Amino acid sequence: MSHKTNRPLTIAIDGYSSCGKSTLAKQLARELGYIFVDSGAMYRAVTLYFLESGTNINDLDEVAQALEKIKIRFENIDGINTTFLNDKNVESEIRSLVVSSAVSEVSAIPVVRKKLVALQRQMKGREGMVMDGRDIGTVVFPDAEVKIFITADPIIRAQRRYNELISKNQTADIHEVITNLAHRDKIDTEREDSPLRQAEDAWLLDNSHLTVTEQFDLVLNKVLEKDRELTSGAG
Ligand code: C5P
Repeated sequence: MSHKTNRPLTIAIDGYSSCGKSTLAKQLARELGYIFVDSGAMYRAVTLYFLESGTNINDLDEVAQALEKIKIRFENIDGINTTFLNDKNVESEIRSLVVSSAVSEVSAIPVVRKKLVALQRQMKGREGMVMDGRDIGTVVFPDAEVKIFITADPIIRAQRRYNELISKNQTADIHEVITNLAHRDKIDTEREDSPLRQAEDAWLLDNSHLTVTEQFDLVLNKVLEKDRELTSGAG
């Protein structure tokens, strides 16, 4: 941690699939000494549970019963934020294309969102927090002091996701990745409950031609500026 804010801020990062939201959120959390929560990992863990248990997502009673059996938590293992589903490390499994292909349908179910949004709100402690997802600035933390909405060219996003999968030794096909991203963006923006959209007070950032470091520097400056603004406003 090399920068400290005067107050614990809530930073909401939303945007399209594979825009590098989690990378940015992790960097900010590390720099500021904040908690980091990857809300997408929670939707992915629920999806994995439904797939493994054979839950019929069109049967809302079945979905509600399955949700009661799900416990999700994060643990920091060797500096890596790791997702646990019912005490099993599922960090790698939840990133597979099988889960990616089903997650948006699962995330569109209101009772799923209700459970995860409540959990996400509970994760906010006294420290500052960075959470990334699709509805963080609009629904989960509408009062967040900093809201960022990230977008990037779809082909650049697909290439990044493909490279990430390959680097993690997962099988990937670039055409499948392109189709999956388009599919998720469509369902995420068109669903009735908490669709993906830019909050009115969010800062729009297109990172198509930014390096990870350039993006981080830009956003860190924005956050520190906001912190100073809030401090001088209060003083
Ligand atoms: O962020 P990530 O790509 O891992 O998210 C996976 C999926 O989870 C998204 O495509 C979306 O359907 C869902 N999601 C959501 N709301 C969030 C975070 C993720 O609906 N806050």
